[in-house]
Amino acid sequence: MPDVENQPKRLNRSAGTTSLESSTGSKVTAGLLKRLLSLFTDHDDVCFWQMSLVDGGLQFPDNAPDFFHCDRADLPTAVTEWLRRIVIAEDRSKVSSLVSSLNAKSTYIPRFSFRIYDKDGNVRWIEQRGAATGTGANSQMVWLSQDVTEKLRTADALDVTNVTLQHIRDTAEVGMIMLDSRGEFTYCNPAFCSMLALQQDALIGTPISHLLDDPTGHGGSRKLARLFRGDERSFQGECTLIGRDGKRVSTESNLWLLPTPPGAPSAFFGMVTSIEERLNALALLRQERDTLRAVFDNADFGLVLADAAGNVTTLNAVALEIFGLRDTSEIPKRIPNLKRYYACYSPDGQEVPLAQWPLFRAARNDFVRDLDLVVVRKQTGDSRYLRYTCTPVFDANGQKRLVVCSVADLTEIRRLHEALSQSQRLEALGRLAGGVAHDFNNVLAVIAGNLELIADAVPDERVSARVAAARDAAETGMNISQRLLTITRRRLPHRKRVDVASRIRAMVDLIERTLGSAIQLKLDIQVSSAFASLDPGDLDAAFLNLVSNARDAMPKGGVLQISLQLVSSPLGKAENRDEKTREEIVLSVRDTGSGMSQKTLRMAAEPFFTTKPAGKGTGLGLTGVYVFAQDSGGRVEIESRLGSGTEVKVYLPSLEPVNEIGETLDDTEIPLGSGQTVLVVEDDELVREVTCERLLRLGYRVEQADSGDAAIDLVNNGMVPACVLSDIEMPGELSGVLLAIKLQEVLPNCKTVLCTGYYDPRLNGRERKEMSKLTILSKPYSLKELATAVHGALTGGSEGTDK
Ligand code: ADP
Ligand code: MG
Repeated sequence: MPDVENQPKRLNRSAGTTSLESSTGSKVTAGLLKRLLSLFTDHDDVCFWQMSLVDGGLQFPDNAPDFFHCDRADLPTAVTEWLRRIVIAEDRSKVSSLVSSLNAKSTYIPRFSFRIYDKDGNVRWIEQRGAATGTGANSQMVWLSQDVTEKLRTADALDVTNVTLQHIRDTAEVGMIMLDSRGEFTYCNPAFCSMLALQQDALIGTPISHLLDDPTGHGGSRKLARLFRGDERSFQGECTLIGRDGKRVSTESNLWLLPTPPGAPSAFFGMVTSIEERLNALALLRQERDTLRAVFDNADFGLVLADAAGNVTTLNAVALEIFGLRDTSEIPKRIPNLKRYYACYSPDGQEVPLAQWPLFRAARNDFVRDLDLVVVRKQTGDSRYLRYTCTPVFDANGQKRLVVCSVADLTEIRRLHEALSQSQRLEALGRLAGGVAHDFNNVLAVIAGNLELIADAVPDERVSARVAAARDAAETGMNISQRLLTITRRRLPHRKRVDVASRIRAMVDLIERTLGSAIQLKLDIQVSSAFASLDPGDLDAAFLNLVSNARDAMPKGGVLQISLQLVSSPLGKAENRDEKTREEIVLSVRDTGSGMSQKTLRMAAEPFFTTKPAGKGTGLGLTGVYVFAQDSGGRVEIESRLGSGTEVKVYLPSLEPVNEIGETLDDTEIPLGSGQTVLVVEDDELVREVTCERLLRLGYRVEQADSGDAAIDLVNNGMVPACVLSDIEMPGELSGVLLAIKLQEVLPNCKTVLCTGYYDPRLNGRERKEMSKLTILSKPYSLKELATAVHGALTGGSEGTDK
């Protein structure tokens, strides 16, 4: 047993196959070995070499320098040197202890391995086994060394791959399964188990079909059966699997047939992903979309959506209504086309060019907030007062996706607002005018009454002409005061059943001559009669106002068309349209004159609004028309375009025609009294005197009192008048109305006629009720009106009574 570590160095320069002969001493052995060696020397990764078990001397074949990565001259000659120079330090003691245990009886040394360095310093793995041959001084080890570095490298790689795959399988979030030819689980990864909340043990051996929730067969089980029968090579689809406690899990599954050796049973690999989250997200999205849709559809303001360029894509129901469209298919396809359908104005009447419409401003990234515009539909002339808020909407990348426009229709609110502020103005005006009117009326009544009385008594024609002129002037004054009182609603309208058609015909006869030759009159009254409940004087005034406005609008002439017709219109929007209609009288006055701008049109009915030069216009005409229409239960519509004329339509509720005799008999005789006593109660002395004088003429006996209290005193002292004619507004405790109430108590048969210059809206409920039962005579009144009222009261009629 050689002491390999401490062998004396004996460098054999002629190391090689030739030296085998001399060291073995046996020609047969040497020749055999030589041939054997030559078998291996061609292989780079194998080296066949000898080591003397006596002195540790070494003999190498020709490929040894390549195999051990050293120069031929540097090949070690003794085993100790081999150990030190060839084997790397870490493996040296392991190899050294093995080698020192060898002796001639070590017939076979099983494979062991160690590492060496190549010339570049890389580690190479050597596997080596050996056997002892020879005896005595010839006893030696024959080593077979093999470089197994490459072999190990591939084995290592395979190992890594396996470990990696296992890692992926175990940690993947996607479910991975393997099934045998019958579709039973042979493997499932943790992700799959947790997806169904089932244990792996419980799954192995279970057929996948048991997990399928597929009552119809369309949920994957038929397709899977085809896969296991071998009709298909793969499966892909959505299927619902049943997990623990029957929990359903929607999945997307992919299964493939695995390559197997011929004759081996088939096996399948599958990847299963839960799509629960995706479906939930989808459901959530759907829900969100439905919510948004509901908001969109049910919003009580208009919503318009457009693409980034401003092309309108969708409108909600309110917006469709606002813009007069039946559905979204009617949206004009091209933006410039919009101008054919709509015109847009600022509230002060300036036309807004297309590029400045709020939608297009927002499309240019301008945020439009609470912008008021008047939009006119050109086809119908329908105009709306709209408030716009428009914003461009950007996505997460800052890319503009759409433009959202909300549109509030303020038309009705504005109308109400205007009506309210107008009525407030009228209220204020009325308070002022009402106060003046009372005195003014009394003055006029005195003048007119006195003139009336002296007219008959004047023999001189020249004087009587003057008197007539004075009466005319007083009449004009009365007209103005009437008009003022009408529009301020301080005069009680004397409504009665009037045939509007014949009234207008009569008025047309009057105006025809005043129009002048430049204006062509066209009359279109298709009905023979049209009855309405209204104050005929107000009707005349309204009609004259309209005609004079039309005439003023056509200084160079034109066509004035006056038409009257009966139309049926639906009673209310929500009502049953087929059943509930009402007849309306439509009086239309149309001219081909200057027309009005949007701004003028909006202001036209304002009291005192006029565009006419001072002295020509009062600004009370259209206001009067509006008030008249409202008082008569009707309405007014004005259509006007600058440069192309104006049409004003007055709608009045029509009354059923009744064939009453005397309906149109206006010129009845003045009814006279027959000596009945009339007590005149009036604080204004002049008025009282004139009234008394008139009543005397009419054939009554007259008594007088200057206040309500004085009148009661007279009655308490035994006077029994048949009728009391009293002013409403009087100084003292008792107003006319209270006097009437009191008289009712003491003299139930005594009739009361109240005179008033204006109607006081501050009357309380009882007074109002009382008034409605009484005969009201509106100041100033003519002799005939006085006669009719007193006679009516005494005979139980209701002439002059406000309805
Ligand atoms: P006035 O006639 O005293 O001016 P109105 O109330 O009758 O008062 O009319 C108010 C304004 O409305 C007029 O000044 C005029 O500008 C306008 N207007 C009324 N009717 C017409 C019409 N037929 N054509 C053109 N403008 C009109
Ligand atoms: Mg006018």
